[in-house]
Amino acid sequence: MPLNYAGLWTVPLAKLAPDLKAPVHGRDKYAPEDIDYALSFRPEPGLLKSLPNLKVVFSLGAGVDGFLTDPTYPRNVPLVRFVDHGLSREMTQYVVMHALMFHRQQRYFDHAQTERKWRQTFPPRPTEDTRIGILGLGEIGTMAGAYLRDLDFQVAGWSRTRKNVAGIESFAGTGELHAFLARSDILVCLLPLTPDTRNILNRETFAALPKGAFVINAARGGHLVEDDLIAAIDSGHLAGAALDVFQTEPLPESSPLWAHPKIAVTPHVAGMSDPWAATRWVLDAMARHARGEKLANIVDMALGY
Ligand code: NAP
Repeated sequence: MPLNYAGLWTVPLAKLAPDLKAPVHGRDKYAPEDIDYALSFRPEPGLLKSLPNLKVVFSLGAGVDGFLTDPTYPRNVPLVRFVDHGLSREMTQYVVMHALMFHRQQRYFDHAQTERKWRQTFPPRPTEDTRIGILGLGEIGTMAGAYLRDLDFQVAGWSRTRKNVAGIESFAGTGELHAFLARSDILVCLLPLTPDTRNILNRETFAALPKGAFVINAARGGHLVEDDLIAAIDSGHLAGAALDVFQTEPLPESSPLWAHPKIAVTPHVAGMSDPWAATRWVLDAMARHARGEKLANIVDMALGY
């Protein structure tokens, strides 16, 4: 069922905080100076700057690129992002599912089924010899990595700073990116979209992966140069990809990604914030803020995540 975004949040807000005045921009009338807190995901550029008394902005999603790509975002106002076990779990399910679909050749068997063909084959390589590389070993990347590690894959993560996670090899910084890519049979992108990571999934990156590698992008469409991916798959260097996010969303009907036989497309649904959990989180954080307590998960404006 298509989603009505404003309705998703107004129902839990009305139930959980019936006395709170929470106008919906574009639907309700409000005075900009009356707004203390803003809840959003991709606000229209300039909107937050127009609210002179804003104390905190809450991102209803884990990624905050929808705020920081607005050059007028008021950088003195703390931006807090949604970090939630349920959201990380949904994202992990998406990543594990596509890693296994590739590893177990499920698309090949789906196709054989359409032809009523009994085509038995072994997986391309044993699980213990299959190396998964996760770009971004943060909240979501660490959880996804732990599940894949527990399935006996060889898991490594790449992050800005060195990590110490049991059974997951840590690569850090641009100096170690190439070595990380060279050992990744399945590459998973779970990075935030920042000026440093935009277009990171490009021709050079794909060329550094082993032949036959598979790419999963569940982070942001801005990470991927889509034409470079198609070229790397069509040349036979990459085996395929699973994409949940795109340079332009909704993905235009004319995009060649829709019909590519080696690419799985989903409409940005890998991890959707649960409106009830997010509303509880916002109300709790507002109460903490009103008591003068420090908020968790404040975005570092210099890093952009
Ligand atoms: P997070 O906790 O902030 O983790 C980000 C990770 O990326 C950290 O490990 C960080 O390294 C690393 N990183 C950032 N910039 C880097 C750089 N320049 N070089 C190397 N590593 C870098 O984020 P998260 O909560 O896991 O979420 C990740 C992303 O998933 C979000 O930003 C969002 O875009 C995406 N997402 C998508 C969906 C969906 O439905 N498709 C849903 C939820 C989230 P350090 O740890 O060293 O700082």
